[in-house]
Amino acid sequence: MSEIRKHYFLPEYCIIAEGRAKRPSEFAAETGGAEPETRPTHCAFCAGSEEKTPPAGSVYKEGRIFADTKEKRVRKWDFRCFQNLFPALSPIPAFSELSGGEGGSSPGFGFHEVIVESPVHGKKLSDFSAAELSELMQVYRDRVCHYRAHENIRYVSLFKNSGGAAGASLDHPHSQLLALPLLPPLLKTELQAIGNEEKCPYCILLEKEKESTRFIRENRECVAFTPYCSKSPFEVWILPKKHVNYLGDCSKEILSGLGEMIGYVLNSYGKVLGNPAYNYMFYQLFDAPEYHLNLRLLPRISLVAGFELNTGIYINTVSPERAASYLRGDKLPEE
Ligand SMILES: [Zn+2]
Ligand SMILES: [Zn+2]
Repeated sequence: MSEIRKHYFLPEYCIIAEGRAKRPSEFAAETGGAEPETRPTHCAFCAGSEEKTPPAGSVYKEGRIFADTKEKRVRKWDFRCFQNLFPALSPIPAFSELSGGEGGSSPGFGFHEVIVESPVHGKKLSDFSAAELSELMQVYRDRVCHYRAHENIRYVSLFKNSGGAAGASLDHPHSQLLALPLLPPLLKTELQAIGNEEKCPYCILLEKEKESTRFIRENRECVAFTPYCSKSPFEVWILPKKHVNYLGDCSKEILSGLGEMIGYVLNSYGKVLGNPAYNYMFYQLFDAPEYHLNLRLLPRISLVAGFELNTGIYINTVSPERAASYLRGDKLPEE
């Protein structure tokens, strides 16, 4: 058992089974990478198709924010944010039902927003410039703050699905945001675990992993590493060096640092894994000063199957140490 294990405060398990290991190129061949880029004429997210989506409440254009009206849509935009046409949650009560937890079930109150990241169909985040990524992080911050201000919202889930294997139904760059009236169980468990610690465990992890073989890279504002308990090959965590609770606490510099690091990791995924489908998720809380914002990236190159669903234990065929060395670009002896 490694010394670092005690710094991972969550009761998570994984099985590192390198005997089943493949070379990264084999993952790429198996998963086939993301879908080919096509530009379907029916894509509602493309420039020129603005009428096909609900009116966008926030349209970013040349550094300023505008809003569509029902009659008139803003053109030549950089980013567009609107309510999902097929939402999982809705501000209209009784639209759907949220089941589970202490209360049994409740009306599925909430918001489900789409953030279109570029007017260009098929553009990849790994091809975004540092300035574009920084601007995207600012859009994220604005949207999270917007929903935080709502009196009934307790949690904002902000994530990106890229590629069919990651759950994306469209090959147009976009992220999604679900604003929930409750704290999800995952975050609740994490908060309880943090409450048992004397110091912020993420602040400790940051320092420890900077010195470890799982370290990938740092910039002025953030550190990237593969977590000790990686759920799947090439999982990456990005942590701001400053203890910030959520995106609303982040300065422009931290946002730029986050954007730059996302760009680096996605570029490395491209080089090592051949443009895989991936998810990234922000973990953040706005009413918990003890929480440390973190971002987790997962390339979708392995399946969550019966064993994982049955036990919550993940089988990972690439050790996080080996994954980190690939993502750092080290020359490996077996290559
Ligand atoms: Zn499109
Ligand atoms: Zn911290």
